[in-house]
Amino acid sequence: MLTDRTAVVTGAAQGIGLAIARTFAEHGARIVIGDLDEAKAKAAAQSLPTEAIGVRCDVSSADDMAALLTAAVDTFGSLDVMVNNAGITRDATMRKMTEDQFDDVIRVHLKGCWNGTRQAAGIMRAHGGGSIVNLSSISGKVGLVGQTNYSAAKAGIVGLTKAAAKEVAHLGVRVNAIQPGLIRTAMTEAMPEKAWESKMAEIPMQRAGEPEEVASVALFYASSLSSYMTGTVAEVTGGRHI
Ligand code: NAP
Repeated sequence: MLTDRTAVVTGAAQGIGLAIARTFAEHGARIVIGDLDEAKAKAAAQSLPTEAIGVRCDVSSADDMAALLTAAVDTFGSLDVMVNNAGITRDATMRKMTEDQFDDVIRVHLKGCWNGTRQAAGIMRAHGGGSIVNLSSISGKVGLVGQTNYSAAKAGIVGLTKAAAKEVAHLGVRVNAIQPGLIRTAMTEAMPEKAWESKMAEIPMQRAGEPEEVASVALFYASSLSSYMTGTVAEVTGGRHI
């Protein structure tokens, strides 16, 4: 499905990003993993069943993003798919949240996604098109307690996705977003048992999702299976908050 395509996935040293990179690789793509920790990014790339490289990148830095995308084009000759996946949480109620906790989450998610979307679209338009997939969250749809920073960033990613989709559709570049619900990764394993139980009660399918179940939707958006879709948001939540 992605044979001879080059895909960049940020924050893909682990979790959902690594599952997306692996799924894309299993469908023939060459992979570039961008993550904060160079050794982890390289190790993740080596674990994939296809040509892949790992590059250190802080997505909130425009220079790092430029270096990541240049590495993709220099190594593999093209950039066909961009997944803006890197993310952090700094949860606290508004009363307790520090300005740094707010700024860090907005910087990594919203600025990082803008850096990746803007720069990837610039390269893709010159190469005849491509597909950009942005990781939002169900938290950006409904707003979750303790996540004023994260909910704002993830809602912002939806607006960014739709505005960018309209700007670049005529250039053959599609931009779509995914809103996962509760997915089993390091980000959610860190949550206390009580938080798991209350979230689980909201999920009609009565289970958490696996990273691979987000990755298969990313594959759909990355490939020509979704060739007439842009500016859309797919919820991968087991029916939570529908
Ligand atoms: P994860 O396991 O914590 O992985 C996130 C990865 O991003 C880590 O490797 C992390 O590196 C990296 N990263 C953090 N800041 C970065 C930066 N500035 N530049 C580059 N890489 C950075 O998280 P996940 O659960 O797979 O989440 C992936 C995406 O899905 C995120 O955007 C998240 O918000 C979204 N999402 C997740 C869930 C869920 O239930 N898991 C639900 C909805 C949405 P370090 O480990 O070194 O920090």
